[in-house]
Formats: sequence, structure tokens, C-alpha cells
Amino acid sequence: MILAVTLNPSVDIAYSIAHFALDDVNRTKEVSKTAGGKGLNVARVIHLLGKNVLATGIVGGELGGFMERQLSNDGIAHEFLQTDQPSRNCIAILHDDGKQTEILEAGPTLGGQEAQQFLQHFKHQVEQVSVVTISGSLPLGLPINFYCQLLAIAAEKQVKVLLDCSGPALEATLKSKYKPYLIKPNLSELSQIVEKNLNGDIQELKAVLKDERFTGIACMVISMGAQGAFVKYHDAFYQVEIPKIEVVNPVGSGDATVAGLAVAISEGKTIEAILATAMTTGMLNTMEAQTGYISITHFDAYYQQVKVTKID
Ligand code: ATP
Repeated sequence: MILAVTLNPSVDIAYSIAHFALDDVNRTKEVSKTAGGKGLNVARVIHLLGKNVLATGIVGGELGGFMERQLSNDGIAHEFLQTDQPSRNCIAILHDDGKQTEILEAGPTLGGQEAQQFLQHFKHQVEQVSVVTISGSLPLGLPINFYCQLLAIAAEKQVKVLLDCSGPALEATLKSKYKPYLIKPNLSELSQIVEKNLNGDIQELKAVLKDERFTGIACMVISMGAQGAFVKYHDAFYQVEIPKIEVVNPVGSGDATVAGLAVAISEGKTIEAILATAMTTGMLNTMEAQTGYISITHFDAYYQQVKVTKID
């Protein structure tokens, strides 16, 4: 089983409003409300791939209950820590021309007691799984090294952790004694970590990924949208090329990629198969209107078109 962690999940609301008027009333009949947050997207895609997944994190209030009910309706197992503070809404207003305006609530501010309770909760869950994914931002109030504390618990049980976060939370884990097995920054997130404007040049990426701050991380998947990915796996480098496809909505492709990585790693696949699976799930997500959703009907056809090349 795979454990998918989302510490600050949200109810994602999308309003379609073609011509949004500021300082005026905007009405819409087109509303969707879904259980969201990066780790819940990961959990959904793992479930759609037909694999066992347990969604965890911290939820509270009516919105927390809404998310749990939606996961249950989708047949996704979940075991969240409950807080008495309400979970958040994240609102996207979808305009014409594919443009969108987002309003993201910060979510609950958690205290030391909830932090300790979640560590206990996680310790118990890690015993039942082979791989853990951790995605997204930390809720307010949790220490910036909170993911390092989860990594320490997973290390004790020798469970591989795939970490998909950015900014200070990622920087803290790079400085920590306990490293994730895999990170999946996109090019701009990697640029932020190394304080260099990277454009995908292979020689430059190779040099950057050899940086000592990444020592101890077995696999680094640098996802590059339509350009596929560049990967460091132990001491080897791989370029991953993907076919040109018709994109409907690319949001959540990174989460679908993490789901593919987690599934193939949990099945003990070769690095080539792990990367081909991840690129395929990323591509399949871009072909759907719903964020963090894939249809597996054409999985094999796209999988066959991914080219993984080991480079010197
Ligand atoms: P997000 O933050 O939206 O979840 P991301 O920036 O983390 O995404 P990307 O690098 O954009 O991740 O995409 C991850 C993977 O999804 C890519 O490596 C690729 O396999 C697939 N993908 C994303 N965008 C495209 C695209 N335009 N065409 C084809 N494949 C894509």
C-alpha cells in the first residue's frame, strides 16, 4: 500500500465566469467542488491506476467532512487526523481564453499538540505501507522542519518517501539528516533552490544536480512539462522524451507524475519503467479537464512512446 500525505488539503471550488467583473455581482451556474490539494490528487491517480492507497493529512470542520465523504464516494481509503479548526477552500475563477484567477485560503493554524498527534498518527500508518508520498505546503503553525520529522519516522521503518514540495519546507529537508528517496521539482522550483535561472540545458542540469546539497537523495526527477523530464538516479543521468499530445488542462500533471513514480517504485520496477510510468500518468492528466484525474484506457499506447535515454 502507498500512503499519500496532504497536510493542508482543501475543497477546491471552480466557478466558470467568462467575463469576470470587478466591483460588481458575478453569477454562475457552473460550479464544481472537489476534495483537492496536491496529495489528494496523488491519491486519486494511484487509485485510478488500480493500486491500494491510503490518504492522510489533517482535516477539520464541515469542509473536512466533505473531503472525507468525497474520498469515500470515490472508493479511496482515508485516515485523517481531525482538528477542531476548519479546513480551507481554494477558489479558482475560470475566465475566457483559459485564464484563471485563484483565491487560496491559508487554512488552519495548527499548534504543537496537533503536530505531536500527527507524528503519532503517521508513525502508526507508516507501518502498513511500502512507499509514502508527501505533497504540498505545510499548514501555518507547523515548524518548517516538520517534513524532516516525517522523514525521520519513515527512515526508521525503511520506507521510501517521495517528496513534492517547494520553498523553505524543501530547503529544510535538504539540510536535514534524513533525506527523501525522491524529489520531483519542476524546472522553476529547481531554479529557486539553486538560485540560478535554469532553462533545461543538459550540461547545466547535470552540474547542478551533482551539487552536494542533494547528496543522499537517490532519485531527482526534474519535470519539464511538454519537454518530459531530466533525471538523476544514483550516479546516472537520464533524459526522458515524451510524444507531442493534445493538452486539455495541465494543472495537476506534477501530482499525476508523483502517483506514477510511487506506483512503479512500490512494484520494484526498473528505473526506465518507473520514469516511463510517471511520464505517462503526467501526460494522461493533461488530457482531462479534471485536475488530478486520469483515464487509463490509453495508458499502454502512451507508455510505449516514452523514450528514456541514459546519458554520459
Ligand atoms: P503542476 O504544478 O501543474 O502539477 P508540474 O510543474 O509539477 O505540474 P510539469 O513538469 O508541468 O509538472 O508536468 C509533469 C509531467 O506531466 C511532465 O513531465 C509530462 O510528462 C506531463 N506534462 C505536463 N505538461 C505537458 C504538456 N504540455 N504536454 C505533454 N505532457 C505534459
